[in-house]
Amino acid sequence: MAKVFYNGDVNEGVLQNKTVAVVGYGSQGHAHAQNLRESGVDVVIGLRQGKSWDKAKEDGFTVLSVKDASEKADVIMILLPDEYQPTIYKNEIEPQLKEGKALVFAHGFNIHFNQIVPPSNVDVFMVAPKGPGHIVRRTYEDGAGVPALIAVYQDATGSAKDTALAYAKQIGAARAGVLETTFQEETETDLFGEQAVLCGGTSALVKAGFETLVEAGYQPEVAYFECLHELKLIVDLMYEGGLAGMRYSISDTAQWGDFQAGPRIVTEDTKQAMRDVLTDIQTGRFAKGWILENQANRPEFNATNDRENNHLIEEVGKELRGMMPFVNKQSKGVVGSAKN
Ligand code: NDP
Ligand code: MG
Ligand code: MG
Repeated sequence: MAKVFYNGDVNEGVLQNKTVAVVGYGSQGHAHAQNLRESGVDVVIGLRQGKSWDKAKEDGFTVLSVKDASEKADVIMILLPDEYQPTIYKNEIEPQLKEGKALVFAHGFNIHFNQIVPPSNVDVFMVAPKGPGHIVRRTYEDGAGVPALIAVYQDATGSAKDTALAYAKQIGAARAGVLETTFQEETETDLFGEQAVLCGGTSALVKAGFETLVEAGYQPEVAYFECLHELKLIVDLMYEGGLAGMRYSISDTAQWGDFQAGPRIVTEDTKQAMRDVLTDIQTGRFAKGWILENQANRPEFNATNDRENNHLIEEVGKELRGMMPFVNKQSKGVVGSAKN
């Protein structure tokens, strides 16, 4: 079993007298910056002029250009969108790196796939909360935390792991548990999870169920409730008690149906498809496609997004959610949550 680090295992002193630059003030950035500040860490924000800049100022932070923040800081946490990190790193961060500084990531993509290649005299590590930024912030305020992964890619100072643990503690993660991994493991499992299960697998499953009912002549509104809306209730039960806890709460008829139909839907073929998806991630084929797609200004991403947004399930869902203000209110707190 993996070793899990908690508050008592961590010496946060390594961050004392150090300045942390949080570069980016979006989902993760605002949460890291505010949690670190409340834990007593000296924080500056690195940004371009714009929406996030104004928000970080409003929240009382010292906001600098990415270049100036990187120059001032000992520890530079990069919380920019993954696709833009390599260019911003090259132009504004790399020239400010000096021996002994630390470069930190919340996802391993750019390091693992060599889109960012740091000099050998800086620490490079990861602190990756396993939850959306808004939850990282909310749980910290509640005295709790979101679990996180740490990984050391390069240990120039000899204390990279201690700094990673201290950072994880100061954002509240060690209240919940911190696990050590590698950039490779985090990157590959994160991509696989979102593609096969969390985002790709689930949205395709929901859509296929909805379409099957509608094509068979059932009302789209009923299909929406059965195949999409109710999913949250089931997932909440899984989150609290695993599959067994979920099955304890559903009816025996539903549980029998689960046992009978599940393996007919997710078959050996599906599992083979999952292995293929994993292979594409491991070989770098997925990464290459996504990097090239971005270089071409996202033609396929945008076309697919438009097509998906015009699906009947979105039309029906918009109307039904409009009648359930509590649903909308709740989802506002986690906008962007599925990004990682
Ligand atoms: P967001 O898209 O929410 O925020 C990005 C931030 O970067 C914004 O503040 C944006 O500011 C700023 N930014 C964008 N372009 C530039 C630029 N050219 N110069 C300066 N600032 C810029 O990102 P996330 O928080 O979702 O992701 C950040 C990192 O965290 C990624 O590595 C991601 O993989 C990782 N991660 C994300 C999770 C999540 O829950 N979302 C979970 C775990 C890890 P502006 O307002 O100016 O556009
Ligand atoms: Mg039912
Ligand atoms: Mg991800």
